Amino acid sequence: MAESFDVVVLGGGVIGASVAFHLTRLGCRRVLLLDRGQVAGGTTAQSSGILRTYYSVRPNVAVAKAALAMFQGFKDLLDDEEAECGIVRTGYLAVAPDGPMATALRGTVATQAELGVESRLITPQEAGAIHPWLRVDDLAVAAYEPEAGFADPTMTANSFARAARRGGAVIRQDTAATGLLRENGRITGVRTAAGDIAADHVVSCLNVWSPLLAAWTGAEIPCVATRHIVASFAADAPYTPAFPVLKDLGSALKLYSRSYGRTEILVGAGDEGDEIADPDGGTGDIPMDWVAEAGEQLAHRIPRFAEHGGFVRAWTGLYDTTPDWNPVLGPVPGLEGLSLAFGFSGHGFKLSPMIGRMLAQGALGLEPDLPLAPYRATRFAEGKPLTGAFGAGAVS
Ligand SMILES: Cc1cc2nc3c(=O)[nH]c(=O)nc-3n(C[C@H](O)[C@H](O)[C@H](O)COP(=O)(O)OP(=O)(O)OC[C@H]3O[C@@H](n4cnc5c(N)ncnc54)[C@H](O)[C@@H]3O)c2cc1C
Repeated sequence: MAESFDVVVLGGGVIGASVAFHLTRLGCRRVLLLDRGQVAGGTTAQSSGILRTYYSVRPNVAVAKAALAMFQGFKDLLDDEEAECGIVRTGYLAVAPDGPMATALRGTVATQAELGVESRLITPQEAGAIHPWLRVDDLAVAAYEPEAGFADPTMTANSFARAARRGGAVIRQDTAATGLLRENGRITGVRTAAGDIAADHVVSCLNVWSPLLAAWTGAEIPCVATRHIVASFAADAPYTPAFPVLKDLGSALKLYSRSYGRTEILVGAGDEGDEIADPDGGTGDIPMDWVAEAGEQLAHRIPRFAEHGGFVRAWTGLYDTTPDWNPVLGPVPGLEGLSLAFGFSGHGFKLSPMIGRMLAQGALGLEPDLPLAPYRATRFAEGKPLTGAFGAGAVS
């Protein structure tokens, strides 16, 4: 066999690039990061980039808290003055009318407090002071996380890849994995069109393409590709990062929004999206009904968009969605030498720096700083899903 590595990482999105970086940081020198296209050319490029620790699922709060600190200290983490993740601190404001969403919101802030996150319950009037364009008369409660905001997923992934390369990793683009090598039940490498590559360990970070692993190994991969629309709107004044990231739990689409390009508002839905059969088969037209519906719900919460606003543009992206809207991470029973990372279900960017470290530690046989066990592949069969309090959708 021509080549061999200690660890081969499949997929150069923000997750795979983070894993590759952390492997080199932990002293692993023979690392290969393989992508069929380009680093950050997959779903990472479609991301809205929002960072928050606001989660109802406890392990997610712990991972997101550690990850946010890594985003905040990104240059130091990568030991590279030129590394850039594009972090913008805007604060994160979640608002809810009376009802189940308000209950979930209160529970989430309690969990955050237990885990030492700075987040607090505030009144609708206080929310209106933080976001002066907000309609608050139909709200019961709000939560505010001042350290949250958004960052740039493409820059983050490329910075991780660059730091991995500086740490000795080989980054090979335009090379698709076509299978896994297996001996006596152990994964021993990767098959590519350009030849086989031996590896002591393979970490698969293939996002919506992860079902390939089912064909390659026979393992069950509970992951479907779901299509999600994102739109931007403009008002009569710039919608700048002075406005917090906003989650409107009162809207039917559970809308999230943030400043986009420092002038427009980017709006996406926390809904289930549309399942699509083939992640490479195109995502179809954007229904104008959806844009109208999202625009109406946006205008209800921020009336200035009804009075002086307009639709600017819309695009789509794919989530690698699992049955409980949380990722599957770590080893696969019966397949020694393979670790999985898929199923980020629309919220993997904010977790990526810490998930990369946990997966790298696991691949090297070290104890991860935070447990991978809650995210084990077998949790569905065991009847222990990581179901969040907000229902289906990417809040979790
Ligand atoms: C519209 C949208 C909005 C989002 N908003 C947010 C947000 O606000 N906050 C947040 O935290 N998260 C958000 N997310 C989710 C987040 O962006 C993703 O969880 C994250 O980027 C996934 O990274 P990844 O590395 O798993 O996947 P990808 O970036 O998709 O990387 C997978 C890589 O695998 C490669 N690949 C595929 N097949 C092969 C093969 N056979 N061999 C080799 N390589 C292969 C692909 O080329 C690709 O580069 C959003 C996602 C979308 C789509």
